Amino acid sequence: MTIAVHQDHFQTLVSSINRQLLIDGRWTAAADGATMSVDNPATGRELTEVADATVADGRRALEAAVRAQPAWAKTSPRKRSEILTRAYHIIHSRLDELALLMTLEMGKPLDEARGEVRYAAEFLRWFAEEAVRIDGGFATTPDGDSRAIVVAAPVGPCLLITPWNFPLAMGTRKMAPAIAAGCTMVLKPAPQTPLSSLALAEILSEAGLPDGVLNVITTSRAGEVIEPLLRSGDVRKLSFTGSTAVGKILLEQAGSSVIRNSMELGGNAPFIVFDDADLDIAVECAMQAKMRNMGEACTAGNRFYIHENVVEEFSTRLAERMGALRVAPGWDEESQVGPLIDAQSRDKVDRLVRDAVSRGATVVGGGHPVPEEGFFYAPTVLTNVDPASEMCSTEIFGPVAAIQTFTDTYDVVAAANDTDWGLVGYIFTQDIDKAMNVSEELEVGMVGLNAGIVSNPATPFGGVKQSGLGREGGRVGIDEFLEYKLISMPIRRT
Ligand code: ADP
Repeated sequence: MTIAVHQDHFQTLVSSINRQLLIDGRWTAAADGATMSVDNPATGRELTEVADATVADGRRALEAAVRAQPAWAKTSPRKRSEILTRAYHIIHSRLDELALLMTLEMGKPLDEARGEVRYAAEFLRWFAEEAVRIDGGFATTPDGDSRAIVVAAPVGPCLLITPWNFPLAMGTRKMAPAIAAGCTMVLKPAPQTPLSSLALAEILSEAGLPDGVLNVITTSRAGEVIEPLLRSGDVRKLSFTGSTAVGKILLEQAGSSVIRNSMELGGNAPFIVFDDADLDIAVECAMQAKMRNMGEACTAGNRFYIHENVVEEFSTRLAERMGALRVAPGWDEESQVGPLIDAQSRDKVDRLVRDAVSRGATVVGGGHPVPEEGFFYAPTVLTNVDPASEMCSTEIFGPVAAIQTFTDTYDVVAAANDTDWGLVGYIFTQDIDKAMNVSEELEVGMVGLNAGIVSNPATPFGGVKQSGLGREGGRVGIDEFLEYKLISMPIRRT
């Protein structure tokens, strides 16, 4: 379906979303009546306003989740599975409007937004299938004198905090396993992109999720609202996706009441191309790893290490492909590169580029903001990047490929691992032994082997080192929301 491109249509869509707080099944204004602005990054202008939750609203939302927990834990896995399945189908029936909503608040091109809506829905489908496969265990103890029964139970009320870069998928990746496991929850989406989460909450209610199981609080006062919840002792599980800096603050707060947690934090992904790689594949995958979401992804290729024998061809071909991309507001069907999320992010990308250039990097394409309204940055390729440049030790989060050259496999692995992060690494080679050796030596949670995208609802996503704790998706994704209880039964011989 082609979407009519005009402001009236945008406003009608945005106004159709409930923009209040969802607490105990009721949509309510913030306790002090406050609202916060949601902006359109392609214009820099306000799109709409949503409720701005207070500390008291946060407490009410958590109380609702706590109240709903016992009854929800007792529902049958089949019922939970069916709610998720219904939500999956509703999302597909509204795919275009959800995609446009996401594009309006976040900026990504419509085609990518549609891709994210499908990806987000897949978490509902996957965990609908997992809900009815939760199992435990039975064993005879080694001395033969006891029987051990292990049963899985929901961990309890969860606090889910999501970022703005994948507004729908980061929500379903947490909510779907929580629902499947029988947990209730408070969801706090990013203030930049609350609309996708609010739309999703309505869809889950429509799919039959009981009142109080999912509570949504949008707020500009995250620190103030969240800390008392984590210290209250009522949250049993924290699942966070966002920056390492905020993750560390939350871990400390969660530590005060010993809360289970999953942390999906930042990345600094190496993208390594050996000289035996298929360059067609390597360039294609570089486009995916770098340009998906305009580079605003924790999985984005951040440090490109290209073997000196192929660096010239690779950089030239990548710069040609990146230079040919159409930069335009995401709702333009021809758009391939949307705006960055805000002025601060665009300015940070520009500062990182200027820092690299001042240290000797060569600009092969792009290298500047796009001088129009909104927060666009030109797709950029830099070569000869000095590893001391700030962009090599921080997430660029923008459409900039920073290329370094290497000759020796041992050296490139050491360089790739020389970072506090360890989310994902990409390797391009046709040598199976090299592929396996380097895959095993990289200190990361995920490897893209001749692949530019690793995320899939059916596989475990997560990092090592300061990239996080725990895994989302796959068979293990639901374990993050379950506690295993042992029932130990000695047998007294008669
Ligand atoms: P980014 O820099 O990409 O916006 P953040 O880590 O700041 O990443 O944000 C990720 C999520 O964490 C957002 O929902 C944001 O509102 C939330 N957040 C930020 N600071 C805090 C905090 N002190 N306590 C709880 N949540 C926070």
